Amino acid sequence: MEALQRCNESKYECLLFDMDDTLYPLSLGLNLACRKNIEEFMLEHLEIEEDHVPRLCLELYREHGTTMAGLKALGYEFDNDEFHAYVHGRLPYNNLKPDPVLRNLLLSMPQRKIIFTNADEAHASQVLTRLGLEDCFEGVICFETLNPPPVENVVDEDKDTAAEYIRPSTILCKPALEAMEAAIEIANADPKKTIFFDDSPRNIVSGKAAGLHTVIVGSSTLVAGADHALSSIHNFKEALPELWEGEGIEQFEPTVQPPPVETQVLA
Ligand SMILES: [Mg+2]
Repeated sequence: MEALQRCNESKYECLLFDMDDTLYPLSLGLNLACRKNIEEFMLEHLEIEEDHVPRLCLELYREHGTTMAGLKALGYEFDNDEFHAYVHGRLPYNNLKPDPVLRNLLLSMPQRKIIFTNADEAHASQVLTRLGLEDCFEGVICFETLNPPPVENVVDEDKDTAAEYIRPSTILCKPALEAMEAAIEIANADPKKTIFFDDSPRNIVSGKAAGLHTVIVGSSTLVAGADHALSSIHNFKEALPELWEGEGIEQFEPTVQPPPVETQVLA
């Protein structure tokens, strides 16, 4: 029944892109540098024992979506902006070069295009600008979008404003299904007419659970929940020509394979 319904879809309207290691390759080294910075933050600022840092960093990433979210869940207190400035401030951004091929591909696609990243706004701006893609997207859904700072300047004696001072105890980020659903709502997208591109197998599983069409990027083989696999984002015109046609969508035939072990950490 679901397959029949999808066959009847006329076209895709929205493309939701992860950013890091999706719009540029993992091999550029930002991911590794970011993980090292996070580990240094845990050591220097949170005074976590050195021997425990690498394992804890990875475990929290796997369990909570980002290491940062995991640290907060464990009760560590630190300023979100200071954390982001520390882990992103010394990344090898010079490795990111303008990508006119990807830029032209994106600009030639008729669908709405939106970034959905767990990273903060400053990092997203740096990456998109360095890649020369800053004007290719309708919007950027990032850390601050899903985790806005508490409102502190509202004073209304007629209303109980106490709730507005309470900072959420948990951080909302991929791969939580709630984060996927929030992003879909913010993007004002119909998941049945939206394609989600991400390099993380677990985000693909979550995107599929939220009803999105899914493309695993940076992999030549399908993973669980993926409708399509792209070894590079540059290949998507060959793999998904229907994005330019608007009609007669090729029916994806999902093939379920076990997800690979994920070792990447990016805030
Ligand atoms: Mg990514």
